[in-house]
Formats: sequence, structure tokens, C-alpha cells
Amino acid sequence: MTAPSGLQLEVFPDVGRALVATRDFAIGDLILSETPFFQVPTTLLQKSALNKQLADVIAKVAEEFPDTGVPVSVQANLLADYVALSSRKRDELVNSFASDTTEDHILARFTSKVASAVHESITELQSFSTNELQKLLLVMIINAAEYVQRNESFVGLYKWGSKLAHSCSPKSVLMITEKQMSHYALQPIKAGDIVTTNYIIRDDIRACWTTPLRRRKLLDTKSFLCKCERCTAPDLNRTTKCPKCSQPTATPSDPNHTQTETWTCSNCSSIFTTDEMPTRMEQQLQTSVIEATAVFDTGLPTPQSFQKAMAKMDVVHKMATTVLGSEHWLSNWPKPFIANKLSRTDMEAAARLMIEWVEWSERGILPFYPNIHVRHVLSSGKYCAKSMVEDRFYGAVVKCRPWCKAELLGHPQMVAIAFAALKEAERKAFGEKA
Ligand SMILES: [Zn+2]
Ligand SMILES: [Zn+2]
Repeated sequence: MTAPSGLQLEVFPDVGRALVATRDFAIGDLILSETPFFQVPTTLLQKSALNKQLADVIAKVAEEFPDTGVPVSVQANLLADYVALSSRKRDELVNSFASDTTEDHILARFTSKVASAVHESITELQSFSTNELQKLLLVMIINAAEYVQRNESFVGLYKWGSKLAHSCSPKSVLMITEKQMSHYALQPIKAGDIVTTNYIIRDDIRACWTTPLRRRKLLDTKSFLCKCERCTAPDLNRTTKCPKCSQPTATPSDPNHTQTETWTCSNCSSIFTTDEMPTRMEQQLQTSVIEATAVFDTGLPTPQSFQKAMAKMDVVHKMATTVLGSEHWLSNWPKPFIANKLSRTDMEAAARLMIEWVEWSERGILPFYPNIHVRHVLSSGKYCAKSMVEDRFYGAVVKCRPWCKAELLGHPQMVAIAFAALKEAERKAFGEKA
């Protein structure tokens, strides 16, 4: 396999196979663009009786494993298509993608059972070993990326995109246009750097997630424990009010984030055990805010579910700010939701809340996912521009300049808004100097 220009495949003890830059890339440069090597629709194909037969067998196994989140239809379509492939393509499919997992991982146990069940009851699959079938399923589960083409959704395997290593502070970002997947530099990349991407950022809330949340998601869905730079450093999004000096400056300092971790206050240098910190409250508020956010994400919530979710956001915002302090992500994530509601009655109060959110996002999100931060800044414009906090808003806009690119924002309308805000910000800055 020859890697695309500017990249080369290397093997690392911790990461496995990963793409490394052979030249420098500036922010916004296109690193890699490709269409899938193999794809299957996510809805069950009815082209032969085989798909339906497979789906029935797999659905029985899936009943025992309700938490895998792997659609039965995808597995059935995959196995049915596999039968018809040339032996060369089959070999490439099973052997050129990662399929590593530990034996006791839920995905290993699940795919092992599926492979045995289909091998036993489907005549067309009896010439393949159960090992091969399990590996095929793992390849798809671990590497596949979703896309939508002409209103139909697919999962695809991308030869090179799947070789990008994961980081919770990634060097590149994926943009999807139908089946074309393009990766752009999000940070400057030097020749010799591993080009990293993020496997789990799908929505903005995940950009705020703490290390335990990110690690759990990666372990469950991608079967590895993330040891990236960010996951092994103090978890800044969990910065909590110090029990001694009351400043929002205590962070979990144990990179392993275990129950025995210690918390260190950067203001008074005190050290605390987890038991001395309000971690139970943190856990409850976290569950509550994730539930409330899910309501807003489901398109059109009913007036009742909307009210309930808003009430939860209000409670989390108040409790988190009081107990966990102003720097914790739980004190900040509810702000744009509350500001949106507040804007109907008190635009100035909404603007003050939004600028707090934007300035937190500058510390909590900009260093890791600058393109998401830019979206936050721009969406605050309708509250903050022409308000008492206008200067702070334009100050935040100026810092977004390197990422105000179509390639990173992915939407022509967003780029137009970004450049209008930038122009205004720079005119104001120039005006002040003059
Ligand atoms: Zn990580
Ligand atoms: Zn302190």
C-alpha cells in the first residue's frame, strides 16, 4: 500500500499503524481525501433472502448484547456482500484494517457469538472460518465511518482515513461531503508528526467532555484506552472550586483518573483525595445535563419535554456554579441554552451569559477543537454584537481568525458570517488604535 502524497504509514508500539506527515501542513490545508474502499447501507438490503436470514440470526444474538449499539442490518448486509466478493478483495478487507480488541471486551464477545451463529446456520458462510467472520465484523465496527448519500445512510471503510491515529487534541479534522471524506489540518503539522484525528466528536457536547467520559466512549466503541497527551494530563474541564481557598482552581492530577486520584489546587497548592471533592454531585449533574442535551438534539422536542429539559439546564447551571465553581464544564455548558430562552425577555442578560460561555470555550475548547470553538463564538454574535459586551465578543472573534476557513467550518454561510464578524472586529480594533 502506497500512502497518499505527504503521508507515510509507520508502526508505533503504543498506537499501532499510523499515518505520519512527510511534509509540513498549515492550518486549513487538505491532508487527505478519499472515497470508501467498501461500503454497506445501514438499512437492511432486501436484494436476496440471505440478508433477511442473516438479520434474523444476528438479531437473536444481539438480544443478549443490548449495549453494543451495532445495527443488525449493517452486519447482515456486510456478511451477505462478503460472500459475493473476490478472494482478493476479501483478503484486503479483513487484513488491511485494525481489528484489535481484548478477549473480554464486549465487542469481542459479541462478534464471536455472531460469527459462530451465522457460521452454524447459514450455508453460504460455511466455507469461511469463524475467526475470519469475526475479524470481518470487528473491522467494520472499529473502522467504519457513517455518511449519507442521496438521503440514504451508509457505513464505509476508508483505507487511509482509518489509519489516522486518535487524539483528544487532534491535529486534523474530518469533513464529510456524501461519501467523500476529507481531512484538513486543524493545527500546524510538521514533517515527522503523527497526523491525529478525533474518532468521537460528533456533536458539541462531546467537545466539553471530561477525560473519564471520552475514555469510556473510546473503550466501548473503539476498543482502546486513550493515552493521548490530553488524557494523561490534568483534566481541566473538571476544574472545581477548592475546598480550602474557594477559588475555581482544583483539578484531578492523577492521569489515570482512578477513584484514588488526587486533586491539586493551583492557587493554594493543597492536595485533596477524591472523597474530599464533590464528585458525587458532579456525577449527578453530569447525568442530568447529558439527558437534557439529548432532548434538544432530537430535532423537535414536544413543549413538555422542552420545558423539562430547560428546567434541568437551569438546575445544573445553578448547582454546578455554586458547588463546582465557574471553571467546571457543567457550570458552562447550560449557558447557551439558558441564554437562548433569556433572549426573549432580557437581551442584555442573554449577552452577558453568552460571552461567559464564549470566554470559557476559549479556555476549554479552543485549544482542542478550534473549529467547534469558532462556531460557538459566531453563534453568540446575535446576542453579543451591539450589546454591552460587544468589545469582548469582537476580541473573541479576532482569536478565531486562523480557523475561519470554508474547509474547517464546512458551510459557506458560516464562512460568510465569520468573515463579516472578523472584518467588523478588525475595524473596531483599528478604530480604537486610531
Ligand atoms: Zn485521549
Ligand atoms: Zn486552593
